[in-house]
Amino acid sequence: MTTVLVIEDERPLLRALQLALQANGYTVVTAPTASSALASLGEEPVDVIVLDLGLPDLDGQDLIPRVRTMTTIPILVLSARHTSAQKVAALDAGADDYVTKPFGLEELLARLRAVLRRRGAEDGAARVDTADFTVDFSARRAVRDGAEVRRTPTEWKILEVLTATPGRLVSHHDLLERVWGPAYVKETQYLRVYLGQLRRKLEADPAAPRHLITEAGLGYRFDP
Ligand code: CA
Repeated sequence: MTTVLVIEDERPLLRALQLALQANGYTVVTAPTASSALASLGEEPVDVIVLDLGLPDLDGQDLIPRVRTMTTIPILVLSARHTSAQKVAALDAGADDYVTKPFGLEELLARLRAVLRRRGAEDGAARVDTADFTVDFSARRAVRDGAEVRRTPTEWKILEVLTATPGRLVSHHDLLERVWGPAYVKETQYLRVYLGQLRRKLEADPAAPRHLITEAGLGYRFDP
């Protein structure tokens, strides 16, 4: 059974989501406020979060990083805010995907399945060991030379995507889509900036990387 925590302050919508998710085989925990959501996360095993950004006690945008200090489970954002900047902000804060209100139930269910599937695939590589650094995805720690390396949520996501398929090319397009979203598939300069940061943090010689490899003009590859 997959347990979904639905964080939504509009009671009729919360109730409708609860009924629809239950009808599709999910166990549902509901929270009408950010504080009740944080309390639920501390108490119950939850597999995935559906989060409305407009909450009465704390902006959902600010709730995402707080949730991320507690758990790595997927977060699917639900919001009437639909500018690219707002979506990027939510994804940068650590959300996995974004559904714009008003939405169809089928779309929500499909995106929920997709984030759970992606996470399931990533669970296959819960820990990555290289000669230079170690990443433990379940504990959300990266260690180099015995010292913990701090990463931003975006850096973390890039690392998750690349290490999920060791030795295989991940195209610019795929990496941008999975980390920033479909509207960003041409922003290859983002990747240069973030991969540079990751190499400085993780590689023994960032100028001659051995693990986070550039495939010129194509994308990037993780070599363990
Ligand atoms: Ca709301």
